[in-house]
Amino acid sequence: MSASPAVALDIPSATPSGGAEWNCELYQMARTQFQRVARRLELDDDEFTRLVEPRRSLVVNLPIRMDSGKLVNFTGYRVQHILTMGPTKGGLRYAPDLTLGQCGALAMLMTWKCALLGLPYGGAKGGVRCDPQLLSAEEIERITRRYVAEMHPIIGPNEDIPAPDMGTGEREMAWYYDTYSQAVGHSVPASVTGKPVALGGTVGRQRATGLGVVFALEAVLEREQRPIEDQRVAIQGFGNVGAVVASELHARGAKVVGLSDAGGAIVCPAGIDVPAAAEWHLEHGSVEGFAGAETIARDELLELACDVFVPAALEHQITEANAGRLRCRLVAEAANGPTTPAADEILARRGVTVLPDILVSGGGVTVSYFEWVQAHQKYVWTAAEIRERLRTQMRQALAEVVATSGQLDVDFRTGALAVAVRRVAETAKLRAVFP
Ligand code: NAD
Repeated sequence: MSASPAVALDIPSATPSGGAEWNCELYQMARTQFQRVARRLELDDDEFTRLVEPRRSLVVNLPIRMDSGKLVNFTGYRVQHILTMGPTKGGLRYAPDLTLGQCGALAMLMTWKCALLGLPYGGAKGGVRCDPQLLSAEEIERITRRYVAEMHPIIGPNEDIPAPDMGTGEREMAWYYDTYSQAVGHSVPASVTGKPVALGGTVGRQRATGLGVVFALEAVLEREQRPIEDQRVAIQGFGNVGAVVASELHARGAKVVGLSDAGGAIVCPAGIDVPAAAEWHLEHGSVEGFAGAETIARDELLELACDVFVPAALEHQITEANAGRLRCRLVAEAANGPTTPAADEILARRGVTVLPDILVSGGGVTVSYFEWVQAHQKYVWTAAEIRERLRTQMRQALAEVVATSGQLDVDFRTGALAVAVRRVAETAKLRAVFP
């Protein structure tokens, strides 16, 4: 993402801090969304002030010995948005453009996501500003271990529990788990989720976010009485989330008419053979060039005629600049923050329904919660139990969003945020302010 322009944050008088450290595009978006719903729910100044800025953050410098023998500094972040809901939870992202403001925004979104799904956590986010593509496995291991050591004062199984996010996966979570456990002198499987199953990770975690997207989509289509087999779907991103969404929808008979990743995009109006495209992707590192479909320019995918568009790559993909050209009926936000507030307004005017990120992409953190519970209980659930509980939780959250959106006469994003913000504001009020 490009450097963000300085934008005045419009902090109310009740909040004397300037909040300048959060000043980036993504934080601005999260804040605008929160502000809209705060107005709608008529939160008072105290309630607004307690939730609008992250509660705690730590920025660390990680001096890392590179394979070349050179010492290089990397910046690591961890932001915890609210500490009143229980421990905090949120991903660990390794990305070349990561900033404190982005972590703050994503931590806030995690608070709403956890509250909406009824999980006993506040939101957090963190990571390291680095490009994992340019680093060896040994360098990434040293970065991960040093990050855990530096963050030790604010992390732990009852404090803050990370999970994979962009640029990290099971491998990094295994190193995280080992480093944390070494520091305290015994194994602490509840210190991190998204671990390999052999280390106490849960079955189903890897596919959980994508599966959650599909459960939410299925439930909405059921309400609309539209058979899933009639849906033409375009999916942006073919990583952890996008590839699972594509394969699960394909297996249910939906037509995946377009796919994209960082390398390019492909389309096939008759429906892409997703398993074959996945094999191609495995071999070539991108869906681009797949013989069973036509290759198009990457960003043309957003304008493809389809019923459902699933952004499953990056934030800020549907903006004021392109929202008028989307040709879908429904946007299911598998990525975090893919739609800007200005684009939301355009889509609403055009009658395009947006299923918001805090609902649709909640499957990952829900199954992470299942992993954390199993780690605390020292008891292992079956794949069928995980799947069924995830399905139930996604459908219940969707039903609440639909009901609240109807009661307040607002779009699904505002309805979802309203359910979540109400829960968090009520908890904060009951616990009151210390001292
Ligand atoms: P990933 O790194 O596994 O995959 C990202 C995909 O997006 C890759 O296929 C990449 O090539 C593609 N991509 C990158 N830039 C692109 C572009 N400009 N156009 C099209 N494709 C592009 O990441 P992921 O874990 O699948 O996460 C994707 C999104 O979902 C992120 O917003 C993440 O925060 C969100 N999310 C992930 C999880 C999870 O469990 N992994 C949970 C909740 C939300």
